[in-house]
Amino acid sequence: MIIILLISMLSICIISALFAGAFYLLGFNFFIAFLIISGLITFIGTMFNKFIEYKTQVSIATSAAMSELATSYQSIKLPCSYCNVSSVIKYVFNSDNIFECPSCKCKNKIIVNMLSARTTEPLAANTVVDEVLKKIEEDDKNGRTI
Ligand SMILES: [Zn+2]
Repeated sequence: MIIILLISMLSICIISALFAGAFYLLGFNFFIAFLIISGLITFIGTMFNKFIEYKTQVSIATSAAMSELATSYQSIKLPCSYCNVSSVIKYVFNSDNIFECPSCKCKNKIIVNMLSARTTEPLAANTVVDEVLKKIEEDDKNGRTI
């Protein structure tokens, strides 16, 4: 960081000295021209850095908004209430829940019905299948084929 700062300051001094030298040859005061040019270069560099920083922030905010929008889309296969053609619809769940039928171009309203259910434990494994699988494994270990 310090090296970059020193290189930047050295670059500004060199460029300012070159331009101030050119202005000196035209009859201007070298130090005043040097100060004005170095100030201009610093100002332009600062503005350029601010512009890049602003552009980066806008890009980050845009990508975050696009990501949020992409994750908020829901996909569901629904039949049209007019033509009864089923199609996969992408819609935003928290908006007005209206989609346009790709077949007849009519607007349909999505009605959401929420229910609750008890949580269940996984069913016990089928013991007959387990026994057959164990026998196959034993046969494989013993080198026999079915
Ligand atoms: Zn339709």
